[in-house]
This record gives sequence, structure tokens and C-alpha cells, in this order.
Amino acid sequence: MLRNDQLAEWDRESFFHPSTHLAQFARGEAANRILTGGKGAHIEDRDGIKLLDGFAGLYCVNVGYGREEIAEAIAKQAKELAYYHSYVGHGTEASITLSKMILDRAPAAMSKVYFGLGGSDANETNIKLVWHYNNILGRPEKKKIISRWRGYHGSGLMTGSLTGLHLYHKKFDLPFEQVKHTEAPYYYHRPDLSMGEEEFSAFCAEKLEEMILAEGPETVAAFIGEPVLGTGGIVPPPEGYWSAIQAVLDKYDILLIADEVVTGFGRLGTMFGSDHYGMKPDIITIAKGLTSAYAPLSGSIIGDKVWEGLMRGSDESGPIGHGWTYSAHPIGAAAGVANLELIDKLGLVENAGTVGKTLNRLMNEAIGDHPHVGDIRGEGMLCAVEFVEDRANRTFFDASKKTGPAVAAALLKRGVIGRAMPQGDILGFAPPLCLTEDEAKTIVDATAEAVKEVLG
Ligand code: PLP
Repeated sequence: MLRNDQLAEWDRESFFHPSTHLAQFARGEAANRILTGGKGAHIEDRDGIKLLDGFAGLYCVNVGYGREEIAEAIAKQAKELAYYHSYVGHGTEASITLSKMILDRAPAAMSKVYFGLGGSDANETNIKLVWHYNNILGRPEKKKIISRWRGYHGSGLMTGSLTGLHLYHKKFDLPFEQVKHTEAPYYYHRPDLSMGEEEFSAFCAEKLEEMILAEGPETVAAFIGEPVLGTGGIVPPPEGYWSAIQAVLDKYDILLIADEVVTGFGRLGTMFGSDHYGMKPDIITIAKGLTSAYAPLSGSIIGDKVWEGLMRGSDESGPIGHGWTYSAHPIGAAAGVANLELIDKLGLVENAGTVGKTLNRLMNEAIGDHPHVGDIRGEGMLCAVEFVEDRANRTFFDASKKTGPAVAAALLKRGVIGRAMPQGDILGFAPPLCLTEDEAKTIVDATAEAVKEVLG
């Protein structure tokens, strides 16, 4: 083992960290943390500091850290056959079994699973398949994709375009012109405070319809959305939102891509967010919870309608020209099988629902009346606290004050990880689905202290 100071030096000299202030990090002004272990909902760093991970890594370590069952499945697969590709009909017991397990759990009318590595590449696949599908159907002009402001769908070129957060566009020459962004279903930020939830949902659907008509319905291919907005602020949809959106999409023959990278496999207390909200997606994006991040793996679950189109196309034009070297990587697939088995065995979908409710209830009880807490919201094992300058008039803090990050830093000092969400003063929680009631209380107690320290 290298001396710790040597490792820290190499870190600043050699490692290009994502989402990091590069200059501050290189100069040693921004902290680094070198992780060495984890168990359950806790991680530990090289200095022996133990933290309660209230964000499950990046909402992905759903079964918790240190699960021997998954580690053993990975080791077994690595010893037997670490790699073979999945092109031209090749597979492994793990990749075939996992496809079947996913479809057994997926919403109705889903047909096949295409595997990738992460959520971004899965969404790239989805858009390519939608374009390919419309070319097969002889409507080459139907290509535009509508996403939402504050949606998060990855940080590739197309997926960074789909993402509706300014940070991901700025200085990258994005978004691409085929991508349009519509109203976010963000009830707390509704334009008129007198609007009820259903009314705001109708307003979002009207905005979507206006956009479709302005662009021309014959040019709009798909709508992509997370069942609950994640990185954009952890925002459950207002009452009636998805049924209102679905009606507009059906009217203009527009496909629905449900991005379930965060919500898939139990986070909302149900297996899929699409079922939770009665959505009828044509394609579902999965990643994170598929392997609980024990190995990189993502997937695109393709619905019957799109699958039939793709099949027809291949009879006319031959094999589909889309593939990644690591599609259905055997080690990822073995991790996925063991992970889904563990979720069932431990009843983690149910636990996400019950302990998630406790987390949200305790958070409301502890800080719901605080003058600078404007909104506390959540669903399943997701919870967010939004800070405001003035609660009565809903005036937000100046972003330069960095109120959200200050509360997250005060929380970290108390041994709990929460995430300062990238846009707005929002503290987010997405703990492992195995969180206990006691751990939920620890998160809330530490948050209440952190809020008091920063905001009085
Ligand atoms: N889609 C959603 C809803 C996500 O939350 C994320 C990542 O947070 C992605 C896609 C992109 O996934 P990845 O970072 O694995 O590329």
C-alpha cells in the first residue's frame, strides 16, 4: 500500500475527476477523499472516517455496500469466462438469464433488452433506435426528441443535449438542434402560486402540445422523461402529470422513453416508476440499480411496438448496425443476476417504500417549519429539501451564496452524505434501499443540525 501522502499527490497530478473544479482541485483548494471500503449504508475512507451514505454513491448502490453474494458471482464469472462479446447471436448464461429476469419484472408490453455500460450510452442507443425505427417506417422527417428542462439523461453528446441543465450545455455547444426542452413538472416552481397540482399538470401538457404543434407533429419522434426528476432536483410529478402527458403523446403518435436509470428496480417502493405512475413507455432506460453499481451495466428495454418495427427493418436491410464491445459484458450480467436475486431475497423494494416514508416523514417533522425550508418532497427512497430566502413569497437564495452546498458540507461534518443538487439550493437524499429506520433517523437528525448551523 502506498503512503497516503503519495497517493494524494498522484491524485492531484494525474486524475481528471468528473464534475470537479479542475483548477481548485489541482491547487489543493478542493478536498479529495480516497475510499477504501463499505458495508451496508456506510463507506469508509483511508483515514478511517466512516460516513453514512445518504446518496448510495450516485443513487446506485441500492443493495448497499459489501454484499458478498454479488462479489462472489462476479469472481465466479471472471474465473469461468471474463469476456465474450454479444454480437451475432453470442451470449452467456448470465446475460440470457438477466434479460429474462428484467422482462419478468418490467411493465407490460416489453419485448427485449439491449445491454450497454451506463445510463448515458443506453439513452444514446434509445435515440438511435427511435431514429432507425422511423426510417424503417418510411417517415425520415420524424426525428425530433422532446425532453424537459431539469431532466437528466446523461452527459454524452446526444444525452447531454437531452439533459435540461445548463451546466451540461454550457461551453459544449449543446444542445443539438434535434432536441427541444419543454416545461419541467416542478410544482414548487410553478409560474403561478395559485395553481393546483392537477391544473399545473394540465398546464405542462398544454405546453407540450403547443411545442409539438409549433414544430410539426410529423417531425417529433419521442418524448423522454424520468418518472421522478432526479438530478434536476428530486421532484416527483404533480398529480395527474403522466396521464396528461401520455394523452398528448398518443394523440400525435410520439413514442415515450421512460428513463428509469434512478427509479428502476425499487427506488420508489415499486419495481418500476412506469408502473408506479401508470406510464405506458415504448422504451425504458435502466442502469444503476440493475447491478447496484457492483459492475457497470445498463439496458434499453424495448417495447413490442418498436421491436416489431426493428424486426421488419432487419428483414429488409440486414443486421442492425449498432453495438458496443462491452454490450452484455458477462461480469456485469453476473452482477445483475446476483443483485436482482438479492433485492428479492431481502425485500428491498418494500423496504424502500416503508423506510423511505419514514425518512420523508421525519424530515418534515424535524425541519418542515424552518423559515428557510421552502419544500420537502420525496417518493419511495428519495427525499429532497429545498432552501429559500423567504418562505412566504417563495424567493430563492442568490445562487452565488451556495446555500445548498453549505448545508451539504455541514452535514458531511456530521458523518452523513447528502448531495447538493447541481441546479438550485436543494439537498438531495437517495440512500441505499436497505436503509434501516435508525439510519433514516440519523440522516434526519444530522440534517436538522446542519440546517441550524448554516441557516439558524
Ligand atoms: N439517466 C438518468 C435518469 C440518470 O440519473 C443518469 C445518471 O445519473 C443517467 C441517465 C446517466 O447515467 P450514467 O452516468 O451511467 O451515464
